[in-house]
Amino acid sequence: MSLAALVQLSHWLGDPARNLAIIGEGNTSLRADDETFWVKASGQHLGTIADTGFARARFLPLMELLNGKRAPESQNEAFQECKVDSDSPLKPSIEVTFHAMLLYEFGAQVIAHTHPTAVNQILCSSRAEQFALNRMFPDEVVLCGPQSVFVPYSDPGLPLAFEMRRRAQQYLDVWGEPPKVILLANHGLIVLGQSPTDAMNITAMCVKAAAIFAGACAVGEPVFMTRDDIGHIYRRPDEIYRRKQFM
Ligand SMILES: [Zn+2]
Repeated sequence: MSLAALVQLSHWLGDPARNLAIIGEGNTSLRADDETFWVKASGQHLGTIADTGFARARFLPLMELLNGKRAPESQNEAFQECKVDSDSPLKPSIEVTFHAMLLYEFGAQVIAHTHPTAVNQILCSSRAEQFALNRMFPDEVVLCGPQSVFVPYSDPGLPLAFEMRRRAQQYLDVWGEPPKVILLANHGLIVLGQSPTDAMNITAMCVKAAAIFAGACAVGEPVFMTRDDIGHIYRRPDEIYRRKQFM
């Protein structure tokens, strides 16, 4: 997977017509090799970013922060040290720690983080956790997984990364595989993709599910799929095959 594909995904996510991210909102990243990844630099716009707007970063200094081998106060030094090109004026976003963690520990190849209006209207409501933990229709299960990880509001930066890691690990323990969607209360959506196209498809399906959920709440009470039905859809060989075709 190339940086060009990440640029293309970023433009798709940052298209103003999609209402997923405006101005400097949101960020994307892509695993480059076992030691490094590309991540959107601070201040760049997803809709217009060029390949020069991405910083190449090393996992190690950031994972040391997350693993307590570096003090949280040394975060800014770790951000500087993680840059492969230390002379580059680009600064990785404050959210770089969760990108590093999700790519390094949770099997993702691509991370797409946005603040979609359709999703955030729910994440800024008392129904946020209900939306995250339930599923309403089969294609939502196929693309977004049997549940989403829900993270209550946390300070951006390390506190958010720590809480996200704890909850993503719980999900992995329960479902036996990493999550595809993480929902941050009062903040936004994170998608863990196996390719830029996969990240795009999961984002689109989550946004559609959010619109359906809001509509269902307006009409009455949403009716959720049962755990059995979700498990049945998710493990069906034809659905697993279909899921692979989407990537
Ligand atoms: Zn954000």
